Amino acid sequence: MQVLIVEDDHHLAAELDRGLESQGFRSRVVSTGREALSLHAEVEVVLLDIGLPDMDGLEVCRTIRATSNVPIIILSGRVDEFDRVLALKLGADDYVTKPHSLRELAARLEAVTRRARDRREAPIPTSTGTIGADVRELRELRIDVRSRRVTVNEQEVHLTRREFNFLELLAREPGKVFSREMIMIEAWGYRDAGDTRTLGVHAASLRRKLGVPVIETVRGVGFRLAL
Ligand code: CA
Repeated sequence: MQVLIVEDDHHLAAELDRGLESQGFRSRVVSTGREALSLHAEVEVVLLDIGLPDMDGLEVCRTIRATSNVPIIILSGRVDEFDRVLALKLGADDYVTKPHSLRELAARLEAVTRRARDRREAPIPTSTGTIGADVRELRELRIDVRSRRVTVNEQEVHLTRREFNFLELLAREPGKVFSREMIMIEAWGYRDAGDTRTLGVHAASLRRKLGVPVIETVRGVGFRLAL
């Protein structure tokens, strides 16, 4: 199975490359988030460092997960519970702390790819208000998660990346209130999660672009998509 190793520490990357090859994996090494985003579709599993030179690894994880189900294991020196929880919330399948045991890492790589295979073979769940897993529809609003396109009354609306992430999050559970912090973490990535002041600005811009009153403010709490 082919593993994409995303690691900017060349010494560690070479060690992982050799180690995983010795465990029977084929691997490919890149050192930036940008390369990870362009190559993840070509491999079966991604092993992702958090501290990368061009992007936060968690942001890379979230961006990959917006369009792909490729298994992702975060490999990080950060042992903080907050980082682990956040990585899993952003769509990582597992989190391994450096320094790691090669045998354990190999076992975890196999476990996440096995689970991904099982998921692919299971039927896609559908529920009210959704068509398959990739399109969410609510009255005049239609969100295609895979192509990141939004239409209102069949007219395409051009959103920024953050506006799209914000809307897509609310649309996962229409009617449910999402807290400001939750929205910032899920839609913005965790680096800026401490600063929720700009959220109102983005909400206003999103409402203006959509032109229909679907985003409700719940004072002192957060936002929800109107049912
Ligand atoms: Ca690093």
